[in-house]
Amino acid sequence: MEIREALNQATLDFTQCGLASPRLDAEVLLSHCLGTDRYGLYREPERPITGEAVRGFRHLVARRRQGEPVAYLTGYREFWSLTFAVNRDVLVPRPETEILVEEVLNACADDGSGRPRILEIGTGSGAISVALASELKDAAIVATDISPGALKVAARNAVDNGVADRIDFVRGDLFAPLKGAFDVIVSNPPYIAEREYAHLPADVKIFEPRGALLAGPEGTEFHRKIVKEGWRCLTPGGRLFMEIGYGQKERVHAALREMNRYEEIRFRKDYAGVARVVTARKKE
Ligand code: SAM
Ligand code: GLN
Repeated sequence: MEIREALNQATLDFTQCGLASPRLDAEVLLSHCLGTDRYGLYREPERPITGEAVRGFRHLVARRRQGEPVAYLTGYREFWSLTFAVNRDVLVPRPETEILVEEVLNACADDGSGRPRILEIGTGSGAISVALASELKDAAIVATDISPGALKVAARNAVDNGVADRIDFVRGDLFAPLKGAFDVIVSNPPYIAEREYAHLPADVKIFEPRGALLAGPEGTEFHRKIVKEGWRCLTPGGRLFMEIGYGQKERVHAALREMNRYEEIRFRKDYAGVARVVTARKKE
């Protein structure tokens, strides 16, 4: 079989089972099997593929047809132009989470103190902390997760991206394992409401860890806890940054106001126009 034929067949297969980006998925999986990049496929479309690569590709195509996310099939995902290892212990990093990273970087640039102490709650693959560490050479970062499997992946990603010396990984439930004060708290916590969970696409619902997604009846359980407990771990004037889900802006805004410990509460929209990131400053 030739590259072109394998691509066309898989694209057709994926289209028929209703996947959202059939051609791209086929390209990523085939280039992974051949150890090339996507452009490599188009340089030599007539190159024959060996029997072993064909078998490997067919196996991945069959798994993708069942909804398994491409990132779990290849074992990698790009985030912030860095490469992250992923497996089923971690949520696949989402592009909208880059907005959260941008907001933290903007605040650290404005602050100018130079050596920010940053706490990330629920680091998963480590995407946020590793991206921040790669930009902020003097930052000291503590990244937590309740899942030992996730922390293993995150620690590997810190090493692979050359920032392991700037991040301490700590296992535990929210703020329980922490002491000391931070200039920044950042979190993309679980935020799917119980009743929404059943309606998630199969690749998310069946393959991604429930503990990374589910967050009580309204989906704001973690935001509320982080707002309630987080200020104790912030320096005066320190900032809290959280990713939020569709329709959660008012609820999270109310939680922040009710605490009466925060000011300068702001929301930033994602590229689809949904309020996606909230920031607040701890009162001095
Ligand atoms: N930060 C990663 C990202 O943005 O791609 C992963 C975010 S994922 C939505 C939420 C993470 O929070 C998961 O890795 C999950 O294991 C972790 N988590 C869930 N409950 C937690 C808890 N009580 N304390 C700390 N982490 C928790
Ligand atoms: N953005 C993810 C999704 O739509 C949810 C991430 C989260 O719960 N923090 O599946």
